[in-house]
This record gives sequence, C-alpha cells and structure tokens, in this order.
Amino acid sequence: MEWVTDMAAKRAEISPGRIAFKDHATGAELTFAEVNACATRLASRFAAQGFSRRDRIAVLCHNRPEFFILLFAAQKAGMILVPLNWRQPAAELEPILQDSGARLLIYDEIYAATAFALERSGLRIAGMESEMRRWMETAADIPSSGQQVRASDPWYLLYTSGTTGLPKAVIQTPSMAWANAINYSQAVDLVSSDKALNFLPLFHTAGINLFTLPLFLAGGTSTILRKFDEEAVLDLINAREVTAFFGVPAIYQALALNRRFAAVDFSAIRSLGCGGAPISEALLETYQERGLTICNGMGMTETGPTVFLMDKESAAGKIGSVGKAQILADVRLVGLDDAVVDGEGEGELQIRGPGVTPGYFENSEATSAAFADGGWLRTGDVARRDADGYFYIVDRIKDMYISGGENVYPAEVERVLTAHDAVLEAVVIGVSDEKWGEVGAAYLIAKPNRSIDVDALARWCRERLAAYKVPKSFHVTTELPRTAAGKVQKHILKKAYSQAAKEISQ
Ligand code: ATP
Ligand code: MG
Repeated sequence: MEWVTDMAAKRAEISPGRIAFKDHATGAELTFAEVNACATRLASRFAAQGFSRRDRIAVLCHNRPEFFILLFAAQKAGMILVPLNWRQPAAELEPILQDSGARLLIYDEIYAATAFALERSGLRIAGMESEMRRWMETAADIPSSGQQVRASDPWYLLYTSGTTGLPKAVIQTPSMAWANAINYSQAVDLVSSDKALNFLPLFHTAGINLFTLPLFLAGGTSTILRKFDEEAVLDLINAREVTAFFGVPAIYQALALNRRFAAVDFSAIRSLGCGGAPISEALLETYQERGLTICNGMGMTETGPTVFLMDKESAAGKIGSVGKAQILADVRLVGLDDAVVDGEGEGELQIRGPGVTPGYFENSEATSAAFADGGWLRTGDVARRDADGYFYIVDRIKDMYISGGENVYPAEVERVLTAHDAVLEAVVIGVSDEKWGEVGAAYLIAKPNRSIDVDALARWCRERLAAYKVPKSFHVTTELPRTAAGKVQKHILKKAYSQAAKEISQ
C-alpha cells in the first residue's frame, strides 16, 4: 500500500451531501463535500504562499471543525500539521515550534495573546476565524498539487502524553490512520449511520483517531465540542445524538459522578470504548449496573492508536482485559530472557503493522531504541495473555519496583485499593527504602462524602495482597498530577515524594 487516496476527496466523492461535522458551539453543519472543498482551497493557498511538501504548520485551537479541515488540507499539500497543547503557555510552546521547525502557526482567536507572544521572524501567524477563514473561502490561482498521498509520508506530529517523562513527537502517517480506522471500525462495527462526539484534546491521538477520523472515513457524523463538558455530553447522549462513544477512564469517571448519571438515557448508544490508561473494576461495575458494557482497549500514540479492543460479548467474563489484537496489528510478548512467549504467559508487549509509526520526529536515537529487530515496537508495557488468547496490560516496565527482591506491579496494588468502598482513585509508586530497597507509597482520593481510614485500608490490603506488595505509606489527597489526557504522572509524584522525604530528614 504505497499510495493511498486523499481521504477528504474520496469521502466527498462517495457521500457529498451527508453531514461530516456538527459544530456544537455554533450549530453549524458541514457536509463531506464542504469539508473537502474548504480543505482543497486551503491547500492551494498554502502552495500559493510558497509552502511546500514537508513544511510544518502548527495549530493552536480547541476542538472545532476547522481543525479537521486543516488536517485534510495538510494531507493534500503534503505538509505536516503540528497540533499544539493549549494548556501550555508560550514559553513551553516555543521549544516545540523550534523543534518541529514550524513556518506557520494557525491560532484560535481565544489564544491570540499566546500566538502574538510566539510570533517571530521565520514563523508566520494567522487567525483561524480571520485569515484562515478567508483562505478557505477563496480559491488561490495555483491548483493543489496533492490528490495522491504516499501512505508512509509524515502527515502530522503528535506528542506522547508525557506520563513517564518528556513527551516525544511521534510521526503520524496516512497508513497509520487507515490501519487505526480499520482496527477500530471493525472492532465496534462503525457504519455511516453512526453518530459520535469529539471532545478529547486534538493534540493527543484519541482526539483525532478515537474515533473521529475512523467515523469520517465510514461516512458518519461527529458532533464537535470545544472541549469536554460533562453536562453537554450527557445532554447529547440523552437526546440520542450518540450511537457510539469513546472515552478515557477519567471521562467515564466524571460522567458516573455526575448527579444526572442515573437518569440519562443511554439507550441509543451501542458501543462504549475506553482506553489510554487502566480502568478500575469498580468503574466498569458502575456502568454494568446500568446495563452498560464498557469495552476496554489499548493503544499508544506510536500505534495510531488502536491495537487491542475488547469484544462486547466477552467483556463481562473477562474483566480487566483489553481484548485481542485487532485485524491490522500483530503483537507478541517477549520475556526477560528475550525469548518470545507463546500461548499463556507474560512479557513485554511488542507491536508491528501498518498502524505503527515510522519513528520519532528527527530523533533517530529514540527511534532506534524503540524498535527491536524485525520492526517490532517495544511498548515498555508488560502484558499477559490468558488461555483464551485475551490480553491484560500488567503495568509499565518503568513503574515496576522491587521490594525485598520481589517485583511489584503498582497496577495490581491499585486494583485492590480501588476495590475498597471509600476509595475513588489510587496511585502507587515505588520509593526507596533502606530495609527493602523499594516500597510502595499509595496516593488516594476518597469518594465524595467519604473519608479514608488508612489503618482499615492497610488491613484491607494485607488480607488481599502478599505482604511485600502492601504499600508502606498511605497519603490521602484531593488532586493528582495529570497529563492533558487525564493520566497520572507518576514521575512527578515520585519527585514530590523524594523531595518531601529529603526535607523531613534534614
Ligand atoms: P509517554 O510515552 O510520554 O510516557 P504515554 O505512554 O502515556 O506517555 P500515550 O501514547 O498516550 O503516552 O499512552 C500509551 C500508553 O498508555 C501505553 O504504552 C500504556 O502504558 C498505557 N495504556 C493505554 N491503554 C491502556 C489500558 N487500557 N490499560 C492500561 N494502560 C494503558
Ligand atoms: Mg509511551
């Protein structure tokens, strides 16, 4: 598959009059033909302005249809889109613009001040509602040269979540987007009559690929919200405007805690996908009690992202599993001795296929470190395959710690902690200890109107876990350091812990 079709043009040819995007903020609706026409005009403008293939365009915006128009325009022009994280101030965005070598920055007018702070020679800035809108409305003299797209060309860059350290810029290609679309669409049977929401941040893979792009390719409609708004999401679900849904665990948690959760009509939804971080059994049960089956999956920025997804029929019997690898993803488990683990067993998860990135942007060192021989991506995650071929994500290799010579996977301890009635969230990190080498420190958030009795919780752990797995300290808190995707940044907790320990010993 060396060449693939211009995605927006192809979709517009097949279903020109269908609605591709609804803009929740303005009520505007865009057909596939309109999306393609706007993207084509934009691409020809870029050519007329002297931009060429591989030039980088940065974009700073909340979720809105214009982002996707820009994404398709970049594909037509062969340019590389660099979505920026709007939570970051200019000082943090500056090095990203430098690293990516962006020549143009398109900004949502609400971020005008940030954009002005970033303007410098070599970087042009253009407002989305002013200049970009004009470019979309008037064709340039030079026709777009695109229409044929190389499957393996860089199309956009996405930064990893930064859960384990500094985010890395991952090259995304049309091949990855197609593989993801096929993997996700087949796993949940997406069709053109499906309706979904788009609210996860667009600077992470889920915002683009879970599953707005797959649904676009299937000819379905996405309602785009500027960002996550639990009241609006529940309203749209209740109004039967959603037939398939994807959220990260933090989103499912927020919806379940909303006072309207029990009353909202979920009956139009036939698929609830989840992924990106471990989801607790308690949360799965909360949905199950309402007759809603959440299908857990696993993916990475480096894999487009969909690799695993649980099938709805088996979900209840395989709690904690992320299902099986989907049709365009090959996976294997590699043991500590470097031998491939066949059948039931545990090892590092490695992934290969058209959904896997060619590498990190202009970082050949990180790229070669990430791949094993044969093009297998090392995920840095330990996974387990059961006798029926279902997979479980055990934990990140980086998060495992060794207590008294025994390996402890914090995720296992976290599962026991969140099974306790008073605990809403639990995070365990390995911290150094004179006697044991390392021990666990647990950070806990209580359920609303509940308090956590630390001694009772320690007893709860001792009854359910081997002694070396029981955390040595318990810290009740109200907030945890998180990435924009809602993932807990354990490296920040570890730093805070060792800083506090140092201060105490001084
Ligand atoms: P960074 O690479 O910057 O440290 P990150 O790995 O969190 O951040 P992403 O690409 O967003 O960045 O996330 C991929 C990782 O998320 C996987 O490698 C895995 O560790 C974790 N993950 C994804 N889905 C699941 C899941 N269902 N259960 C447990 N962990 C998951
Ligand atoms: Mg990662």
